[in-house]
Amino acid sequence: MIPAPFEYLRASSLAEAETALSSDDEARPLAGGHSLLPLMRLRLSRPSLLVDLEGLGELGGVSISGGALHVGAMVRHARLEHDEKVRSALPILAETAAQLGDPQVRNRGTIGGSVAHADPAGDYPTLCVGLDAEIVTTRRTVPASEFFTGLFSTVLEQGEIVREIVFPIADGPHRYLKHGHRLFDWALVAVAVQRVEGDWRIALTNVGPVPLRARRAEEALAAGASV
Ligand code: FAD
Repeated sequence: MIPAPFEYLRASSLAEAETALSSDDEARPLAGGHSLLPLMRLRLSRPSLLVDLEGLGELGGVSISGGALHVGAMVRHARLEHDEKVRSALPILAETAAQLGDPQVRNRGTIGGSVAHADPAGDYPTLCVGLDAEIVTTRRTVPASEFFTGLFSTVLEQGEIVREIVFPIADGPHRYLKHGHRLFDWALVAVAVQRVEGDWRIALTNVGPVPLRARRAEEALAAGASV
C-alpha cells in the first residue's frame, strides 16, 4: 500500500519544527522513517504533515559533559555502534546498536525515533530504563522510568520533540543479550545487564508493554548472590 496524502516540511531549526508540530494535531516528526513510514504504508498512521528533523544540528551530537554521555535524538544506530566516545563511555550502547536491525536500518534509524516510538521490542528503551537515563525534550527532562507509559506510548505531547538522551558513564562489566528469530532482527526477548558504580542494573526487553526493570534480581546481586 501507499501512504495517505500528507504535507512535508524540512525544518530548518528546532523552533520551526516545534511550531509546525504544535500547530497541527495530526503532524508528526520524521526521523529515519524506519518505524513511521511502514506504519504509514499500512495506513495505521495517517499524519497530515511530516516535519523532517534531518540535519538539525541541535539533535545530532554525541558529547560527554557533567559526568554523563549526551546523545542527540537524530544520532543514527550506525554512529552509536562506531563512535569512539560511546564505545569508551558506555560500551553497552555501542554493542546494542550493533545488534539492531540490518545495516540499512542502522544507517537510517535514530535513537530519538526509537525512544519516541516506544516499541516494547525496541532495544534502546530497555537500556534507558535499565541505566536510569534521562530523556530531554524541547519542554522538559523526564526520567526514563516515567517516559514509557504503555504499548507504543510515552509522555510526549503534541509538538514535543526529543532533543537528547542522557546516559550515565558506565564502562564496567555489561551485556545486552538478545534472542530473536533471525540475526539482526527484533528481540523476542532480551536482557540488559550493566554494573554502574558498584551496583548491577538489569532490564528486560519485550516481556511487557514497557521495559521491565528486574529489581529483585538486582537486590539479590546486591545481597551477595553470584552472577
Ligand atoms: P521514525 O520512524 O522517523 O519515527 C518513529 C516515531 O518517533 C514516529 O512517531 C515519529 O513521529 C517519532 N519521532 C521521531 N523522532 C522524534 C523526536 N526526536 N522527538 C519526538 N518524536 C520523534 N529497532 C530495534 O530497537 N531493534 C531492532 O532489532 C530493530 N529492527 C528493525 C528491523 C527493521 C527491518 C526495521 C524497518 C526497523 C527495525 N527497528 C528495530 C526499528 C528501528 O530501530 C527504527 O530506526 C526506530 O524504531 C526508530 O525509527 P526512526 O529513527 O527511523 O524514526
